[in-house]
Amino acid sequence: MTEYKTLVCRKPGELVYAVETISELATDHTLLKIKRIGICGTDLHAFGGSQPYFTYPRVLGHELAAEVVSSSDPEEFEAGELVTIMPYMNCGKCLACRSGKTNCCSIMQVFGVHRNGGMAEYLQVPTRLVIKGNGLNLDELALVEPLAIGAHGIRRAAVAQGEYVLVIGAGPIGLGAMEFAKISGAKVISMDTNAKRLDFCQQKLGIEYIINPIYDDVNGLLMDITGGDMPSVVIDATGNLNAINNGFQYMAHGGRYVLIGLQKGNISFSHPEFHKREATLMSSRNATIDDFNQVISAIKNKLIDPIPYITHRSSFNHVATDFQSWLDPENAVIKAMVSL
Ligand SMILES: [Zn+2]
Ligand SMILES: [Zn+2]
Repeated sequence: MTEYKTLVCRKPGELVYAVETISELATDHTLLKIKRIGICGTDLHAFGGSQPYFTYPRVLGHELAAEVVSSSDPEEFEAGELVTIMPYMNCGKCLACRSGKTNCCSIMQVFGVHRNGGMAEYLQVPTRLVIKGNGLNLDELALVEPLAIGAHGIRRAAVAQGEYVLVIGAGPIGLGAMEFAKISGAKVISMDTNAKRLDFCQQKLGIEYIINPIYDDVNGLLMDITGGDMPSVVIDATGNLNAINNGFQYMAHGGRYVLIGLQKGNISFSHPEFHKREATLMSSRNATIDDFNQVISAIKNKLIDPIPYITHRSSFNHVATDFQSWLDPENAVIKAMVSL
């Protein structure tokens, strides 16, 4: 029996290494040797203690790239091949699952959130959740999941060619939403309070319109940009209550508002303002296999290059000490990536 190291978040602010033993391969499972762990807002919030749906202790980590060690389906997954995983353990039986909405299963268990995740040298997952690497490298594979979240939000909004899409929040999820809105032919407006992130949107993603609500007259600028129409799609990727409440007023008549970001409070908005727009409000949770496939083919076909998202790197042995610094806005982390 081989032993391996995991990193456990025992309680907010406390990450400690632990030793586990590799157990026998369970039925219909694949054993993975973890090679990359992308650090997500969810991980940072779990560490910071502000993540809803969270219990401790927990092994974090759901944005993974790995090498197959052994699989229940050796014809599909060879030892040594590179893969990512869809970290959403759905039941397959509830109404959502039966309707193909596996991303919002009523008893969803997300790896690294509701059950132990991939901040570990090894992880066993159901083989049905393993996704072939398709020629992508390890860094790219670890970025597929966060990009799929953005892709799903854009799919939810059914973004059409030529629409103005306002994406609020230019973190990794917002960036993904912007990329896929662009791929759908939308004219993308990026809004964030962080000037460095807005620069990144312009320089790395080629986003034409940027708005910083700290300095800018948001409504006036949106009117100018859209020729008086306002954006027909507003996407929240902040998970900030104030930003979410403000987002309602930016929506065009007949518009859609998609909440990808998540926070703990109650949303409130003016019913008359919402009603007169005949607006649609929807949440967007996780992603489906279609979103994962779309992301992988977009990276493979060079429609997007997510590697510049990686602003910080660490090794598995140093991640426990580096974590705190990634929470500091001064460090301007977009995506921190851990290598093993
Ligand atoms: Zn994530
Ligand atoms: Zn289900």
